[in-house]
Amino acid sequence: MLILGIEGTAHTFGVGIIEMKNKKILFNEKVQFKNNEGMDLRELTEFHIKNFESVLIKAKEFLKSKNLSFKDIDLISFSQGPGIGNSLKISGAVAKTISLKYNIPIVGVNHIRAHLEIGKFLTGFSDPCFLYVSGVNTQIIAKDDFGNYKIYGETEDIGLGNLLDSFARLFDLGFPGGPVIEKRAKKGKNYIPLPYTIKGMNVAFAGLYSNLKQKKEQFFKNDGKIQIDNNRFIEYENYDDFVNDLCYSLQETVFAVVLEIVERAIAYTNKKEFIIVGGVASNKRLTEMANGLSQIRNLKYASFPMEFAMDNGAMIAYMGYVDKKRAKNEISNLKPQPYINVESEL
Ligand code: AMP
Ligand code: MG
Repeated sequence: MLILGIEGTAHTFGVGIIEMKNKKILFNEKVQFKNNEGMDLRELTEFHIKNFESVLIKAKEFLKSKNLSFKDIDLISFSQGPGIGNSLKISGAVAKTISLKYNIPIVGVNHIRAHLEIGKFLTGFSDPCFLYVSGVNTQIIAKDDFGNYKIYGETEDIGLGNLLDSFARLFDLGFPGGPVIEKRAKKGKNYIPLPYTIKGMNVAFAGLYSNLKQKKEQFFKNDGKIQIDNNRFIEYENYDDFVNDLCYSLQETVFAVVLEIVERAIAYTNKKEFIIVGGVASNKRLTEMANGLSQIRNLKYASFPMEFAMDNGAMIAYMGYVDKKRAKNEISNLKPQPYINVESEL
């Protein structure tokens, strides 16, 4: 069974092709919208309209190189939601057009479940606890006793990725923030304590962001002198050292925070396996800390190639396989669902 998956919920337009007879991911290409200022809706829309074609052409060339064509595809799967309305409309329209043109059955899938299912597929885990950390989302998800995905904990305000991106914007580090912060954190020497909020299995990051903003103001107001606690100060000679220390401290703090709620969820759900999915999963320090937690807690932990943890078409193709029973030969009732979550019907 040859499945074509189309991802386009937010910043990424991706196409993946998988072959389920041999359980192989054959093709996974994407383009990603990048802008230092964040995601302007009009620019994002333009980006998708301009770029979807180039990825589809690559898919077509790939198929041709294997003596195949779109006609050989058995199922088209696309992200029906959640996501940004305009992005979903464009990728949905692309999927429906291919389905109509070549008369291929189509299925709309839940983007978040796709992140989880590709994680299970690639690690071979059967019933893990997931930490889903992307730009917008920070959630602890696992299956309940009835086999349905359930959110056990989440952020009460901004997602972890957004926090990293906002911090990077505040300190002019570029977008996306995560990779730059990871690099600079390695040069950090001093841990600057930062406030954090954990409520049961939930977290909140807005207060931490305000504190980082205050730290920046303090740096310029006090000539590089930063208060660490009641009677300890660090006097920075240059701004770069200060930013490196903040990157380091930010990572140590927020990763400890999300792993703390994972630990609580593991104790509550009694799961024996643990996977991290979403863009922030590419962070090596997070992986290292997750490994540490898993050893202490006797958990099976595995990471998988970043290409499949970030938004991508292959995971949508695989989710189409999981949901193949819902596939139809018509394109009606496949409207974008921007606001669904992992617990929703779809
Ligand atoms: P997603 O929405 O799943 O594509 O994830 C995007 C988010 O992942 C952005 O907020 C990025 O800053 C974040 N991200 C990407 N690479 C890294 C990294 N190496 N460390 C931390 N965060 C990262
Ligand atoms: Mg995603």
